[in-house]
Amino acid sequence: AMYLAKQRNTGFMIYDAEQDRHSLERLALAGQLRHAIGNDQLTLYYQPQREISSGSVHGVEALVRWNHPERGLLPPGEFLVIAEQTGLIKLLTRWVFDAVLRQAAVWQRSGADLIVSLNISVKDMQDPQFIQYIVDALGSSRMAPGKVVFELVENAAMADVQPALLQLSRLGARFAIDDFGTGYSSLSYLKEMPISEIKIDQSFVLGMLTNDNDAIIVRAIIDLAHNMGYRVVAEGVEDKDTLDLLEILGCDLAQGYYVSPALTQSDLMEWLNRANLSGQGGAA
Ligand code: C2E
Ligand code: CA
Ligand code: CA
Repeated sequence: AMYLAKQRNTGFMIYDAEQDRHSLERLALAGQLRHAIGNDQLTLYYQPQREISSGSVHGVEALVRWNHPERGLLPPGEFLVIAEQTGLIKLLTRWVFDAVLRQAAVWQRSGADLIVSLNISVKDMQDPQFIQYIVDALGSSRMAPGKVVFELVENAAMADVQPALLQLSRLGARFAIDDFGTGYSSLSYLKEMPISEIKIDQSFVLGMLTNDNDAIIVRAIIDLAHNMGYRVVAEGVEDKDTLDLLEILGCDLAQGYYVSPALTQSDLMEWLNRANLSGQGGAA
């Protein structure tokens, strides 16, 4: 009941056994996840983003995986909800953020000038300690703060975190709205936010060749975002025809299986070498 009350921001909930069927399994998983975060069982994959007009590599999005000792490599869908419900998300985000800064420093030393995006939760931005942690970490890291993009899903609590976003953006950090078009899209709050990027949800991009409405939505989002001064990323670009259409519509960046799936750090290095050799994003 407490977790549901926290999740729904209702202040209280009455216990309901219906809502609690997997509680033992989930409790076990939550315990394992806490252990996993402290014992480096988490790992990051990196999905490249390509600039559509030039074909050059723009940056990568860091995507977390859990190397579970019994169940193998788990995608985030298997454990993020539990992380959110138990508050472990703050530890997880901190782990991801630290790993991203370390990795970015390595890339910088090897001459790979990549922008790195990472996913954060509104809960993270509601936590003053975490904000201070980011401020300190960005200050002591040699990485330019503008090389880090924090991706946030639209959320009803967005207005609450505006001061935190403003504070971090004054230091040069950048913010993207993730899964744009699926959530709580209030344009009036958007214009008050220090946002530099909009990521069009993959559900619209996947359908844009076959569904006129999806294509209309994608076009409208690109125009709106450009008019407001944001860069636009299309997610879920799975084929060349979609990429070509996005280019016609003036979309800035593409991310998706056609460019590359998410890769381990070493596979990313190989991919970058090939992409540089071909002078293109490296897609098939
Ligand atoms: P997202 O941020 O929207 O990330 C994109 C997801 O779409 C990734 O799944 C990616 O592998 C998948 N994807 C990429 N290209 C394509 C494509 O062309 N077609 C299709 N159908 N899918 C594609 P993944 O890695 O399983 O991540 C799922 C979600 O988990 C992410 O969605 C994000 O919301 C969340 N997530 C991932 N890593 C983190 C993290 O470190 N922290 C937090 N808080 N959330 C994370
Ligand atoms: Ca994302
Ligand atoms: Ca997304």
